Amino acid sequence: MNERPRRRRILILAASFVFRLAVVAILLGGGGWWLLAHPETPVPAHWNPLRPLSVTAPVTPITKYQLNRALADEAQCRASLLDAGVVFDAMEDLVVDENCGISGRGVLSNLMTSRIAPVETSCTTTLRLTMWEHHVVQPAAREILDTEITRLRHLGSYNCRRMRTAQGENSGWSSHARADAIDIIGVDTADGRSLTLLQDWPGDTPESAFLRRIWKGGCSWFRVVLGPDFNRLHADHFHLQGPGWGYCR
Ligand SMILES: [Zn+2]
Repeated sequence: MNERPRRRRILILAASFVFRLAVVAILLGGGGWWLLAHPETPVPAHWNPLRPLSVTAPVTPITKYQLNRALADEAQCRASLLDAGVVFDAMEDLVVDENCGISGRGVLSNLMTSRIAPVETSCTTTLRLTMWEHHVVQPAAREILDTEITRLRHLGSYNCRRMRTAQGENSGWSSHARADAIDIIGVDTADGRSLTLLQDWPGDTPESAFLRRIWKGGCSWFRVVLGPDFNRLHADHFHLQGPGWGYCR
């Protein structure tokens, strides 16, 4: 007989519960946003997804998100490089055709610690390379070789060409056609060593361990990394490519 009022009461209780839950969620969400967006937020910048990428900041789960934002925004990309002290002199975009060209173009001649022979490339490739140098190459050199890397040696970045495969030419365009990749052949160390992939990749030496560490670490900052174990075309260089499907070999 009092079935109906009971059901109504339950309905009212449920509705009020959902309403309170929504209010709490909005307050928490709004509060979270306010906490992150406030100029004097106590949240450190490298934990704050609303703050721009700082190359030298410690790597956190937020770093990838900040990096992706900088990669998608040329002004932010260039600002991050400038802030890190990387020498990347801006040039006008290179427009060739639908397959070839460079947007966010510049000449890279100095990374954070190591020098590099001037290379024409894109801001995105330079930013990924900078993250790799600072967070992978130098720490690995200090840990395994007890020195620093003073020079990265390369084979270039921009090249309007199709992909090369072990079977010959492929119909697809190379990521080099948009300067979305750079090929690294070796490094020089502060204590006078000169390492090349061709000579130092094989074997059971600290130099080989170092090269394997930085090859593997490249996969954290580039989406496609190919090295000597991939095929004979890469026996003498790492192919470090920004866009891709997450292939590391
Ligand atoms: Zn390459």
